[in-house]
Amino acid sequence: MPEPRAQRIEPAQEVRLRIAPSPTGDPHVGTGYVALFNRAFALRHGGRFILRLEDTDRARYVAHAEQLIFDSLHWLGLDWDEGPDVGGPCEPYRQSERLGIYREHAELLITAGHAYRCWCTAQRLALVRKEMESRKEPPKYDRLCLGKTREERQALGDAGPEPVVRMRVPDEGSTGFSDLIRGGIEFENRLLDDQVILKSDGFPTYHLAVVVDDHHMRISHVVRGEEWISSTPKHILLYQWFGWPLPEFAHFPLLRNENRSKVSKRKNPWSTLVWFRDNGYLPEALLNFLALLGWSMPDGREIFGFQDLVDQVDFARVSTSGPIFDLNKLDWLNGHYIRELSRADLVERIRPFLLRAGMAADDAYLLRMVPLVHERIKRLAEAPELLGFFFQDAGTYDSSLLLPKGLDLASSRNLLATSMGIVQDLSPFAHSALEAAFRALAQQQGVKTGQLFMLLRIACTFSTVSPPLFETMEVLGRERVLTRLDAAERRLVDHATPR
Ligand code: GLU
Repeated sequence: MPEPRAQRIEPAQEVRLRIAPSPTGDPHVGTGYVALFNRAFALRHGGRFILRLEDTDRARYVAHAEQLIFDSLHWLGLDWDEGPDVGGPCEPYRQSERLGIYREHAELLITAGHAYRCWCTAQRLALVRKEMESRKEPPKYDRLCLGKTREERQALGDAGPEPVVRMRVPDEGSTGFSDLIRGGIEFENRLLDDQVILKSDGFPTYHLAVVVDDHHMRISHVVRGEEWISSTPKHILLYQWFGWPLPEFAHFPLLRNENRSKVSKRKNPWSTLVWFRDNGYLPEALLNFLALLGWSMPDGREIFGFQDLVDQVDFARVSTSGPIFDLNKLDWLNGHYIRELSRADLVERIRPFLLRAGMAADDAYLLRMVPLVHERIKRLAEAPELLGFFFQDAGTYDSSLLLPKGLDLASSRNLLATSMGIVQDLSPFAHSALEAAFRALAQQQGVKTGQLFMLLRIACTFSTVSPPLFETMEVLGRERVLTRLDAAERRLVDHATPR
């Protein structure tokens, strides 16, 4: 068979891995999962990691999805050595810019008798499928067009104007490959359909494009999700027909929910990478979590970084049972990584979440408030809820909260007024001094510390739950505390005055 005119590159020698997402929307968390292992393996072996966009399905194409793929992979810290945005020796890396190459390869297969044109309409194909199903046969194309010219086929009716190109799958024998994760996998050829490889609009289907590109981009290891296993024999036939060496294959297990259903965008709102970013997961926590799905460190460690994975990654250690996507475990890991952050780093990470909620403050104030939540915040997105009271002087709470159980209006007002005096004069304005002073006040007034502290908590944080009270008052500072106690006292006056 004549060699294609397209770039002629020697068979794979270097280690070159790729991911090939389709820009159809928010990238799925599975894309991050597979990218992680591709990138780690490439780095481990001194190879290169390539990003290729498989954008030939024009019906599902979403223009801004490309940028979402770039952004979310960068956010995860997974960079690529070659790709549509950074270029590289195998350009272009967008399949829609390589249409001529695919057409040329389809022609070569037709000439060699491995592929044929098919003019059957969608209606006819649907009928054929129905008939096969009613005979309990695997639905396959019935090869009406095989061996026919356009004219011969048109004479039979039900023919479309532009043909597709189909693979001519052998009737006998089997096609197999050895998967680095699963071992030998074999499919009987008679069960394979004469797959369309070039559509009537001149665009290739995934099967032709992926093989042509993986070959010309010198991909040494095709590492992808399990859902592509059944496509692999078709790809192997194409490699064989073109006379190309096979890459290695590794099919990672699908991510599953606890009920073992597939993690899907339709069912799981949290299945996109953007969701994790927007909900305040740290990329290092998500990477660690993804690395634990189906993979384990030789020493059983659960907490490890990307470089540790690079040092150890080995596809033979990947388990084939669908790993369960356990969000509780991710929350736990995220909490761990948050606690590892320095105070300044935590400020940087939560700042975008606060700003989005309209909460801006100078660094000094932010640096003082974050220690109050550092130990218990699980996701950065919780910051506006946990810290919101620091940013507003008037809260929107129900005034009756200012009457903790056992305190009447007069005693609450009196306590607030006396508290203002204490706050005014206290020196230093520090949490231990505040605590000592307010404990003494409770005793002196004959109220329980719990009652007084709840009153102060509501007045200062507008909520019955807050970070430790006196530390919080210290961070708020004398002026803000005074303003809030005063506002609370005035609220009680209003509360007492019937409208
Ligand atoms: N375009 C396919 C996808 O969206 C690529 C599959 C492969 O890696 O071969 O996942």
